[in-house]
Amino acid sequence: MASVELDGIGKRYGSLSVIEGLNLDVRDGELLILVGPSGCGKSTLLRIIAGLESISGGELRIGGRLVNEMAPRDRNIAMVFQSYALYPHKTVAQNMGFSLMLAKRPKAEIERKVKEAADILNLGGLLDRYPKQLSGGQRQRVAMGRAIVRDPEVFLFDEPLSNLDAKLRVQMRAEIKALHERLGTTMIYVTHDQVEAMTMADRIVVLNRGHIEQVGAPLELYDRPANLFVADFIGSPS
Ligand code: ADP
Ligand code: MG
Repeated sequence: MASVELDGIGKRYGSLSVIEGLNLDVRDGELLILVGPSGCGKSTLLRIIAGLESISGGELRIGGRLVNEMAPRDRNIAMVFQSYALYPHKTVAQNMGFSLMLAKRPKAEIERKVKEAADILNLGGLLDRYPKQLSGGQRQRVAMGRAIVRDPEVFLFDEPLSNLDAKLRVQMRAEIKALHERLGTTMIYVTHDQVEAMTMADRIVVLNRGHIEQVGAPLELYDRPANLFVADFIGSPS
């Protein structure tokens, strides 16, 4: 587990300023949900935390350590995307263990970690299957399994459920929430779905054009929105 501190973070693409002077403290072990309209900088922010994107200014700390110059692989962070590209010619077990194999971990350790993750995610009976033999929800669980085996200090989710149908989305929300409770790992979760944010989050961050409109517990935002933008975004039916 680790806190994530963003202190005056800025990001520019050429002359386009996407994020400016952003301050945010993500608490150790919390499930923080980032919401905001398309293009407001949610994915950019996650990619900055993961180290996949350089920053134009500010300081980023993970678990109290300044990581501005630290390579992604040294940050102990795992990211789960919406397009959960699994390796089609590898089994579930191979997909889940692949990053550990690349890291040259011993075979017995890989098997143990994969089995643990499969137990947590209810994938125990599916380890020898190939991705095309899985349902959408099962594939999404394998994608999460790939992240879990690495024991990350922080999980980043970028709209992980947006490719799933409505019913499965509801089920997966509950599963991710349960996963968070079980692992206790810090999670930063991006969605444009207000219901997802309201039902899952410890705290919600409302982003708009690269700056924060409000941070608070779901009910706090619902009862006392800081401005019309937040009221509109949280209050509108999805
Ligand atoms: P969101 O995830 O909230 O939809 P993004 O973080 O993907 O938003 O994008 C924020 C802004 O940054 C958008 O205006 C987008 O066009 C711009 N942007 C994202 N990536 C790049 C890039 N590689 N080059 C230039 N502009 C980018
Ligand atoms: Mg995005």
